[in-house]
Amino acid sequence: MMRQYELVERVAGYIENPNETLLNKAYVYAMQKHGEQKRASGDPYFSHPLEVAAILTDLHLDEETIAVALLHDTIEDTDATRIEIDEVFGSKIGHLVEGLTKLKRLDLVSQKAKQAENLRRLLLAISDDIRVLLVKLSDRLHNMRTLGAMRPDKCKRIATETMEIYAPLAGRIGMQDLRDELEELSFKYINPQAYETVIGHLDVLAEKNKSLTQEISQNLQSKLAEANIKARVSSRQKKPYSVFRKMESKGLNFEQLSDIYGFRLIVEKEQDCYQALGFVHTEWKMVPGRFKDYISVPKQNDYQSIHTTVVGPARQRVELQIRTEQMHKVAEYGIAAHASYRNNENYLESSAYESLRATIEQLAEGDNAEEFLEHTKLELFLDQVFCFTPKGRIIALPKGATPIDFAYAVHTDIGNSCIGCKLNGKIVPVVTQLQNGDEVEIIRSEKQSPPAAWESVVATGKARSSIRRASRQAVYKQYSTLGARILERHFDKAKQTYDKDLLEIALPRLARDSVDDVLAEVGRGEMQPDDVVVAIYPEYQVENQEVDAQSNGKSALIQNKKPGRIPIRGINSDLPVKFSKEGGAVPGDNIIGILVPGEGITIYPSESKTLAKFKDDGAHMIDVRWDLDPANKERFPASIYVLVDNKPGTLALVADVIAKNDGNIQNLSMKVIVDEFMEMKIDIDVWGRSHLTQIIKQLSEKSVISKVDRITG
Ligand code: MN
Repeated sequence: MMRQYELVERVAGYIENPNETLLNKAYVYAMQKHGEQKRASGDPYFSHPLEVAAILTDLHLDEETIAVALLHDTIEDTDATRIEIDEVFGSKIGHLVEGLTKLKRLDLVSQKAKQAENLRRLLLAISDDIRVLLVKLSDRLHNMRTLGAMRPDKCKRIATETMEIYAPLAGRIGMQDLRDELEELSFKYINPQAYETVIGHLDVLAEKNKSLTQEISQNLQSKLAEANIKARVSSRQKKPYSVFRKMESKGLNFEQLSDIYGFRLIVEKEQDCYQALGFVHTEWKMVPGRFKDYISVPKQNDYQSIHTTVVGPARQRVELQIRTEQMHKVAEYGIAAHASYRNNENYLESSAYESLRATIEQLAEGDNAEEFLEHTKLELFLDQVFCFTPKGRIIALPKGATPIDFAYAVHTDIGNSCIGCKLNGKIVPVVTQLQNGDEVEIIRSEKQSPPAAWESVVATGKARSSIRRASRQAVYKQYSTLGARILERHFDKAKQTYDKDLLEIALPRLARDSVDDVLAEVGRGEMQPDDVVVAIYPEYQVENQEVDAQSNGKSALIQNKKPGRIPIRGINSDLPVKFSKEGGAVPGDNIIGILVPGEGITIYPSESKTLAKFKDDGAHMIDVRWDLDPANKERFPASIYVLVDNKPGTLALVADVIAKNDGNIQNLSMKVIVDEFMEMKIDIDVWGRSHLTQIIKQLSEKSVISKVDRITG
């Protein structure tokens, strides 16, 4: 166990004249309080807070933080109290220790339902003082290093929590080393077999490549020296979890990954980075698409480096990170690298902390705990892209974000009125995935409200909940507009006068609070127009020509059974309903109805590109769902586009695949586009979306077919 004087010496190694009294007092206090307590491993309990403190000295943290680390378990596990700690160490330290105590209690709660609330409290405590997170992460790191002493089921739960929450948080504040270690330790417990396999492979590989790694390293070093660039070259050891993650995310096997070598060039000045880069690129061929300049645009966690991949001397791929010493320090220590000792305000200057804090504040706005957890997982733990407003402001977004996310990130009003966007000066669909460095200009219309379908496209919680809210309102408005129209027609047919004021008076009879609620329910098909007539004119006799004697007057049911009726829920009106002509919707599709006044309602698959054109011409989007009777088997028309080789027998082959997969070809047209290729448009009747997908898949497996796409008009 580390002695008292050793701890003080460590701190004195990076702080001039440290507050020895504080360190000594905290050491003695914690040691006495924990007394004879033991850890699961049998070690004295005090060894744990001491190790946590040691981890924080490696990060060069101030004496207050070290003292808090020593004391972090005293309130929870010993007879120490907040009042006593305040008396001995002052209320600042007391406050931090109490914060950690609360978090420790939360660790013990394992129910899923509580998880979100726990995480929220953790984040709020962090935004109060970032040092809480630094101590908590070090605490978790030491617990993970000594996890083996725990019961296996407990190990797995703690490891999973570490992987899902603490490791990403460490990454988010730029503490890459800590993140790596947390991930590697967790991986071992979460997936022991995969861990063993990867370790085995890596050992074999390391042995095999020892000389090659040295050769590349020396080659780089000497070539750079010739060019007068002073650089420290080191090879990066591959870590089991990062290898495993790469295999999983890119679908590669170990062999495909094994020809990648990682090296790091540490240079003196920023301009040396670019010089070294230029040199490397002239000396070796660069692999396209792998170059990233995080020096001119740093990551949100302050990380700076140049990344590139070149084809090395023995034709293997060599990944290079080029950075200065200072950048290297930030890359390893993250926020902690900004610590100027004894001055908490310096953390505040770090933009990583700033952005973490901003995210937390945004997250805290979430409506409920569940939504909060969803947002957090989306925003806190994903990789990011950085985009610019036309005025040059940087907006950081999770990877996969769209211009819609961008619009909402700038302001909710901008998101709600977004109708299109320009990416780097060119108009593109709003669902385009943003790339690093994109300049995004949002095109707006005040009349617009965001389509509900966007909810499944966006990547940020803020956009998602705003769209949900706005489209709830918009859908409600559409239904009430539709309802009003239905009622007007229905009253006409019933030869009664429709009047909003009369409906207002009749509200109690319908047990509804507002006229709009009634209209929306009629629009949604949840209230019969006849009920509204009767509520206003109680003497009115409902005549149901369509109802037969046995049906108890459920006219809606009868209508549903009428042949040729489109089986869609959410529409109850006399307006004609039809499928879009070009490649209509089939069961299993998400569908959207478009109400064009005077024409009726047309149903489109939600991915249909035609939908975009209705956005601002006054048409109404209606949220509809399928209402199929499983007993009533019926086929639906769909269309596909096929690009095939222009040679004999191709047509027969296409027709054969469709027939073998139980598709009914209704119509087929074709056109030779160049001599080698022919385009076909085929209308097929199918049972539903999965049936259609199966046909498309079978077709696309044929070698003469180079492209198959569904047409959604
Ligand atoms: Mn602890």
